[in-house]
Amino acid sequence: MSHTLSQLMQFIEENDIKFIRLAFCDMFGVQKNIAIMASQLPHAVESGISFDASAIAGFANIAESDLFLAPDLDTFAILPWRPSEGCVGRFFCNIKYPDGRPFEGDGRHLLQTMEQKAAQAGYRFLLGPECEFYLFETDEKGRPTLEPFDRAGYFDIAPMDRGENVRREICLTLEEMGIQPERSHHEQGPGQNEIDFRCASPLHAADDLMTMRAAVKAIAAQNGLFASFLPKPLQDESGSGLHINLSIFQNGVNLFENFRTDPHPTAAAFLAGILRRIPEITVFADPLPGSYERLGRCEAPGVVSWSCQNRSSLVRVPAASGPDCRMELRSPDPSCNPYYVTALLLAAGFEGVQEGLSLPAAADYDAFARPAGLTPLPANLDEALALARESEFLKQVLPEKLLVDYLGHKQREADAYAAESKPYEYEIRQYFE
Ligand code: GLU
Ligand code: MG
Ligand code: MG
Repeated sequence: MSHTLSQLMQFIEENDIKFIRLAFCDMFGVQKNIAIMASQLPHAVESGISFDASAIAGFANIAESDLFLAPDLDTFAILPWRPSEGCVGRFFCNIKYPDGRPFEGDGRHLLQTMEQKAAQAGYRFLLGPECEFYLFETDEKGRPTLEPFDRAGYFDIAPMDRGENVRREICLTLEEMGIQPERSHHEQGPGQNEIDFRCASPLHAADDLMTMRAAVKAIAAQNGLFASFLPKPLQDESGSGLHINLSIFQNGVNLFENFRTDPHPTAAAFLAGILRRIPEITVFADPLPGSYERLGRCEAPGVVSWSCQNRSSLVRVPAASGPDCRMELRSPDPSCNPYYVTALLLAAGFEGVQEGLSLPAAADYDAFARPAGLTPLPANLDEALALARESEFLKQVLPEKLLVDYLGHKQREADAYAAESKPYEYEIRQYFE
C-alpha cells in the first residue's frame, strides 16, 4: 500500500514511534541499517541520509565513499520485537550517489528495473519464498553453539518439536508487520524449521524475505536461541534451502495454470530460460563456499533438470490450482542476496520468453542418481565463479562494477576456503555468526 509522507508522519505521531531504521541489503545479502529520530524522516525523504559506503563490504571499491539512503515509503513497518513504547519503525531504502544517480550495487534498484522492463512487455510476476533455517542453543554467555534446539524431524510435533512456540511467535510477528505467513513446520534436520509466506511482487517478496530473516533472528535471540541461515551448518544433516516459487502473468492470467497437462508456451519458455542460465547464476544463488556442501544431497538439487513429480529435480512444477500454479526453483539457499538472485532469475526467464526457447524433456526420475546427459550445477564456489566469469548473460544484466566486485570478493572467499585443511571448521568460524 502506498502512503504519503504526511500520512506516515501522522501515523508515527499517533503510534509513539521514536526511531526510524533506514535499512538496505549489502552485496552479500546482509541487512544493514541506521536509526534516525522520527523527526528526521521528512529530511530523509527529501535529501536522503548519507552513509560511509567504504565501510560496507562490497560497496567499498565501487562507490565513492558517500552514498545516500532514500527510504521507499511503501515499505514502512514497525519492528514488533523492539519496545512497545518509543517504538521503532523501518523502511527499506534505495541507494543513490550524491547527484541522485542510482548506485550500481543496489539490488532493489536492479530488481525494480527488471520488473519494469518485463511490465513494459506485458508481463507481471509473483514470487513466494520458502525459507529453511536452524535453531541452535546458546551457551551461558549467550553465544551460539552448534547444539541443535531439538532432535525432531520433518513435520514432527511437540514434545519432539521444541520449535513450535518460536515459529508461532515468528508467524504472529510477521503478520503484525503485514507479511502473511502461510505455512510453518519442523524440517528434516534437528532444530531445522521452515516458514513459507504468501507470494508477492518480486520486489516485495525480496523485502519480505529480508524482514523474515531479521524477525527469525530477533525472536530466536529473545528465546535464548540462535537462528542460522547457513546453507549447511551441520555436516551430516539436511542443508537449508530457499525454494523460490515463481509465476508469470499476462493480462491477469497465470501462465503456469494447467502446466502439467497443457503447458503454455510462454511459461515453458520462461522455465527453459531459467534452466539455461542457472549454472551462471549459481554464484549468486549459492554464494558461500559451504553452499556446495548442501547441493546434490539431502533433497537439494545437483543437476539441471525439471519435473512435475520429482523432488530431486532443480525445478518442480507442483500440483496446484488457480493462482497457486507456479514453478519451484530448489537450488538457492538462504544466505543469498535475494534482490540480485530474483533480478537474475527474472532476466533469465524473460530472455527465454523473448527467444521463445523450448523446454527440454522432463526428468521424471531420480536426478540424485546424476543420470548422464544432465548438466551438473557447479560442484564448488570455484566452478561457480569460473562459469560466472565467462557469462555473457551476467555481463548484460548486471552493472559491470557490481559484477567485477562481487566476483572478486567471492574469489577471495573461495581461495581462503580452499587453503584450509579443515574447511567445515573454517566455514563455521567465518560465517556462523
Ligand atoms: N532442506 C532441503 C534443501 O536443502 C529441502 C527440503 C524440502 O524439500 O523442503 O533444499
Ligand atoms: Mg522444506
Ligand atoms: Mg519447497
